[in-house]
Amino acid sequence: MMEQYSIKQKCVDCDNRKICNYCPALFFQENKSFEKPSEYLCCITETKKKLVEKMDKEYAC
Ligand code: SF4
Repeated sequence: MMEQYSIKQKCVDCDNRKICNYCPALFFQENKSFEKPSEYLCCITETKKKLVEKMDKEYAC
């Protein structure tokens, strides 16, 4: 059985939330649900986090 998603559980507890372009409308476009996070958006956010971490290391003063 497919795991149930909830914004309250998944997004609220997400370590990437501060840099995420969280958008229930995108969730709906991808999943036909306002509550199931978009895998596409999560992937973009994870990539963004890695880029920021890399830039922090390379350009630290
Ligand atoms: S990265 Fe995914 S799980 Fe985390 S806040 Fe954004 S949409 Fe939610």
